Amino acid sequence: MALGEFELIARYFANASAGRRDVVLGVGDDAALVRVPAGFELVAATDTLVADVHFPAGTPVESIGYRALAVNLSDFAAMGATPAWFTLALTLPEAVENWLERFSAGLLELAARHEVALVGGDTTAGPLTVTVQLLGYAFAGRAIRRSGASPGELICVSGTVGDAAAGLASLRGRLVIDANPDRDALQRRFLFPDARVQLGMDLQGIASAAIDVSDGLAADLAKLLAASGVGARIELDKLPLSDALRRSVPRAEALRHALHGGEDYELCFTVPGAYFPSLAREATVPVAAIGVIESAPGLRGVDSGRVIELSPAGFDHFQR
Ligand code: ADP
Ligand code: MG
Repeated sequence: MALGEFELIARYFANASAGRRDVVLGVGDDAALVRVPAGFELVAATDTLVADVHFPAGTPVESIGYRALAVNLSDFAAMGATPAWFTLALTLPEAVENWLERFSAGLLELAARHEVALVGGDTTAGPLTVTVQLLGYAFAGRAIRRSGASPGELICVSGTVGDAAAGLASLRGRLVIDANPDRDALQRRFLFPDARVQLGMDLQGIASAAIDVSDGLAADLAKLLAASGVGARIELDKLPLSDALRRSVPRAEALRHALHGGEDYELCFTVPGAYFPSLAREATVPVAAIGVIESAPGLRGVDSGRVIELSPAGFDHFQR
């Protein structure tokens, strides 16, 4: 390695405390010490990005750093939890300064925006793999789980779904989108997803269950349904599709990306119907009601009055 391990850590990762005063001891010792506020539970989430599996060759390096944290922030959003600190386990083929600069810029810019502190990690040589563990807190007993949905409640989705999958297909050269700015907009949804952290926190005490959409709306909703022991019916016409996606692909393909594409990092959650109007009015992100929880297990889609059984098939690392 051109750059020594300690120099590398000192230069790119040692000064990212985001001004937090609850970091007792950050990067530099054998372990980090942080202060969890009284009355709150510690929340932990981990996600790993592997080169070629989670991002295509040629992905901008800033995006690799950004996404490593964003996917964890999205898990926190789905719990309604407050993110505070994170660790970074970085495995690199070689220490290239320009690469590290861009990687840490993408990562630390997002960290600063969400005021989360990098408090430690590990740096090793090997095939490019990035693991972030995000730590934070939720008021005791108030984190939102996947298991709380009841029959009759509305199923909601934030933002728009399907964009990231279309953007990724375009980055991989499997989908040709001629028109800009649509192509850039869809690719950006994959490269720089917005984790819905504020919405998640605002849903505490309102949503009965929540999950973030990483593997695809159908697959992730199916997980929420299974955890809650219920089923659902969604109306395909109500899926929130962006104008960019509608302009770029035929309707059937837009629906396929929306249901089975993944990488959206939107929130899918359930609420009692009476809460929906004020939520839709006040939420910091657009929220669409797409269906209803039913007691019969399974996921059904209604398209032009026709009911079809929806396959939950999303992305599964061990079934490809
Ligand atoms: P140890 O051998 O005790 O695990 P290391 O030499 O691996 O310690 O790491 C030294 C310090 O640098 C530790 O505080 C560790 O948390 C931190 N660190 C190592 N790699 C990273 C990284 N990629 N990002 C942030 N902190 C890191
Ligand atoms: Mg170590």
